[in-house]
Amino acid sequence: TEACLGAIEGAGALNAFVHNTPDLALERAGAADARLAAGNAPAMCGLPIGIKDLFCTTGVASQAASRILDGFRPEYDSTVSAKLRDAGAVMLGKLNMDEFAMGSSNETSTYGNAVNPWKVDGRALTPGGSSGGSAAAVAADLCLAATGTDTGGSIRQPAAFTGTVGIKPTYGRCSRWGIVAFASSLDQAGPMTKTVRDAAIMLEAMSGHDAKDSTSADLPVPDFEAMLTGDIRGKTIGIPREYRIEGMPEEIAALWDRGADMLRDAGAKVVEISLPHTKYALPAYYVIAPAEASSNLARYDGVRYGHRATLAAGDGITEMYEKTRAEGFGPEVQRRVMIGTYVLSAGFYDAYYNRARKVRTLIKRDFETVFAEGVDAILTPATPSSAFGLGEMANADPVQMYLNDVFTVTVNLAGLPGISVPAGLDSKGLPLGLQLIGQPWDEGELLKTAHVLE
Ligand code: GLN
Repeated sequence: TEACLGAIEGAGALNAFVHNTPDLALERAGAADARLAAGNAPAMCGLPIGIKDLFCTTGVASQAASRILDGFRPEYDSTVSAKLRDAGAVMLGKLNMDEFAMGSSNETSTYGNAVNPWKVDGRALTPGGSSGGSAAAVAADLCLAATGTDTGGSIRQPAAFTGTVGIKPTYGRCSRWGIVAFASSLDQAGPMTKTVRDAAIMLEAMSGHDAKDSTSADLPVPDFEAMLTGDIRGKTIGIPREYRIEGMPEEIAALWDRGADMLRDAGAKVVEISLPHTKYALPAYYVIAPAEASSNLARYDGVRYGHRATLAAGDGITEMYEKTRAEGFGPEVQRRVMIGTYVLSAGFYDAYYNRARKVRTLIKRDFETVFAEGVDAILTPATPSSAFGLGEMANADPVQMYLNDVFTVTVNLAGLPGISVPAGLDSKGLPLGLQLIGQPWDEGELLKTAHVLE
């Protein structure tokens, strides 16, 4: 813990940690020492970790990287952060992210962007988003592991951009209670780590049924670490032809082929599959996620939490709402709220929102069909490129940024588990990730397969 606290102090330029809790960390590390000495140490006893700013943590700023939550210090812990604490993990502080987890580059944060510890010719790169601070902190050894959340790729894409491991579990595996909601039917928490083994250990600690989240599953949590046997003989791995998108860089295609070869060499059968509705996933996601966000974010009204605008004489409650929300939400969040409100409004609801929900069902069925045909897991690239420069996409058309999620959003729409594993470097010397998509509740088999790719 002391070593990490020192590293965090020396790495201010990465802007990964945005609220540090050194005193609390040292106190918990001391308690962990005592448990270790007494010989009754839980799985993560004394391991220093970072927590994404989206998770509520008792008495510690939890702002979802938004100005509208300025000064918000919850009186309770999210179920996931409480479980990690119970497993002995030591929280070092809160990690940077895109505002309300909306973004793919950590550039929508009210704290300013986090920076990727990987560089090309000294050029500053994004660590990805929205869990960019988590990825940067793990990659730069500021903590041993971190929590992330993934609504459309926010664990897997930053993991790919920083050479770390990130798993989005099956929807319902981890409780969402106490995590600031973005799009409730898509959001899941998950671990971001150095290795697949670490991800297995941490996922087990984070998982499990929670009466406070009615969508959390009442299923046993396996010993994921024990499943990392390296034996994937007889497994069938699907390669979806629709993911070979137009203009896919040669290097990404080569990485994908290499991954397939590695799995084949380890005894898996690799087959081509079709997921025909893939091309509708991004448009469906960018209707459903903003629709849910516009509803979830209605609670930030200047009354219950955080920021309230200074009012002029004669301003009434309407002006208070308007000014507070205009000041408190950044431009990307405002864009999502407007898109969401539009697609849910009378007259457009059927054309957009209901349509997108039907498309979501078709995407889910695509996966169900291939799994029923005997496919155990699906291999794809995690991202269409390696990490890009800061400002490069943020200053372009927002749709350019949304295109980053082309390989990841299908997994959230279908509620499946997905993992990104580091799979080598591109010609610029930057990390690339491969994604494995698994059957529901099959994180153990997914981790086992991912372990072979490490
Ligand atoms: N980049 C996607 C978005 O902006 C995904 C974000 C996420 O997974 N939280 O919505």
